[in-house]
Amino acid sequence: MNTIKIGWIGLGRMGTPMSGQLLKAGYDVMVYNRSKEKEESSKLIGATTASSPGQLIQQVDIVIVMVSDDLAIWEIFTGNDGLFSIMTTGKIIINMSTVSPSISKEMAYLCSQQNNHYLDAPVSGSVKQAEDGQLVIMVGGEKTIFEKALPLFEHLGKVVMRMGDTGTGNTTKLAINTLLAFHVQGLAETVVLARKNEIRIEDLITLINASALGNPLNKIKGDAIIQNNFKAAFALKHIAKDLRLAKNIGLTTPMGETAFKAFQLAEPALGEEDIIAIIKQIH
Ligand code: NAP
Repeated sequence: MNTIKIGWIGLGRMGTPMSGQLLKAGYDVMVYNRSKEKEESSKLIGATTASSPGQLIQQVDIVIVMVSDDLAIWEIFTGNDGLFSIMTTGKIIINMSTVSPSISKEMAYLCSQQNNHYLDAPVSGSVKQAEDGQLVIMVGGEKTIFEKALPLFEHLGKVVMRMGDTGTGNTTKLAINTLLAFHVQGLAETVVLARKNEIRIEDLITLINASALGNPLNKIKGDAIIQNNFKAAFALKHIAKDLRLAKNIGLTTPMGETAFKAFQLAEPALGEEDIIAIIKQIH
């Protein structure tokens, strides 16, 4: 059993398998999720639960947060029973959600007011990589705090890199997810063009995977198109959010504008489906 006690906030598609990795590694993990029913599967594999973020932080050494967006972070940190509702010191709070660099800077400042420490540590990879501890993790924050958190990151990811000061993990993640949006939309447009010309999509995907363009993303999303399976691994609403955040930090390029518009347009109808559901609005 590892002696460090971990608090985990956010048991969505990513948070559940990621916290599961730490339980498997022998850490004592206390979880909190806004919707209580999502705590059940973590309890079954040994997690304890807290009734609020404020209650959780008092009982652990390191808090990891994996939730949707800036608003969720704001509520979890500054809410009535949030992380800052109780005076604590010496805690490390790691925010692995994809959020803006500006909210990370704000939360890092508020953490420092209590002598707590903050790292932004968003991830690339999806549910499968989370289940296998094979994520790619990019971290912003103080080097000494990063080094303390590194053993935890090593259970979650295959590559862990400190990018610089607070917010640089978030900035890097937004740049990477811009490429993700281009890839997904590009694959969808390729399939639409081939389909229009009566090419068998199974054959097209086989050839893409065998070519220099083959990559895990094209494989997974290509299979999803073939199987007509749009159940979210990475919900389209999250990439729409990421492109809004990317725009706020300077995404004004031609493809950036196109992807931004395409995913904002798709979000109302397709937001809860997987990102590759973008194909449904391309003709
Ligand atoms: P998800 O399945 O939609 O889960 C979202 C989590 O955030 C849930 O635990 C939800 O609680 C919580 N939440 C949302 N709003 C909240 C609020 N106001 N207060 C408290 N909790 C709140 O999301 P996910 O796919 O796990 O993604 C989590 C983060 O990782 C996002 O920033 C996403 O962009 C990023 N990410 C996702 C993937 C992926 O493939 N899925 C990959 C890389 C990065 P409830 O259960 O109560 O709604």
